[in-house]
Amino acid sequence: MGMIESQLERRGIRDKRVLQAMRAVSRAAFVPADLEGESEEDRPLPIGCGQTISQPYIVALMTEQVRPEPTDRALDVGTGSGYQAAILSQLVSEVESIEYVPALAEDARQRLESLGYDNVRVRCGDGYRGYRPGAPYDVIVVAAAPGEVPPELIRQLAPGGRMVIPVGSRDEQTLWLYEKDGDGEVTREKLAPVMFVPLVTSPTDDTPPRSNRR
Ligand code: SAH
Repeated sequence: MGMIESQLERRGIRDKRVLQAMRAVSRAAFVPADLEGESEEDRPLPIGCGQTISQPYIVALMTEQVRPEPTDRALDVGTGSGYQAAILSQLVSEVESIEYVPALAEDARQRLESLGYDNVRVRCGDGYRGYRPGAPYDVIVVAAAPGEVPPELIRQLAPGGRMVIPVGSRDEQTLWLYEKDGDGEVTREKLAPVMFVPLVTSPTDDTPPRSNRR
């Protein structure tokens, strides 16, 4: 993975553990067979069901920004291929990953299992509401963009927790870093302009977030 590594380092990814995880996890195992030849290119690739596996640089950036620690518990919203979950699995103790599309969740679950990433659990459901049974989380990584930050995700962040999340419309999004301090105070910092698929919300949600409905 020399190419990705040099791309990542050149673009400012410094965290040694993150670079090591990016090296250890083969992206080729997470893209459709016919695209394996392109798996080291620094761009998103289609994974079916209208979804994509994120660009390696963005995965590295999000992972670095949440400062994962070996004892942390992480929530990965938008499992997709399972690539981000696999990267996180190298860096924290446990990963809960939640995917809305059943076929993608099932594929990712099988893929992660067959590759031996056994500290990741894939759930099928609406990650707009996080995954309460596993909360709170020290780290939350969101790979689809809501119109506004889901309050439930903030709630599920542990004291001292960090979350990266793209927020915005289909054509204009910002990646944010949210941090909750020991007293529960939440601060946020703008990281970069980004382009993710929209975070969908379940039609059965009784308290639908208006701003996310377009
Ligand atoms: N982390 C993924 C990126 C996948 S793209 C990877 O490494 O490959 C974003 C994913 O978010 C898509 O698979 C999409 O189906 C999923 N998604 C969209 N809205 C969601 C929601 N409300 N809850 C869970 N997953 C959602």
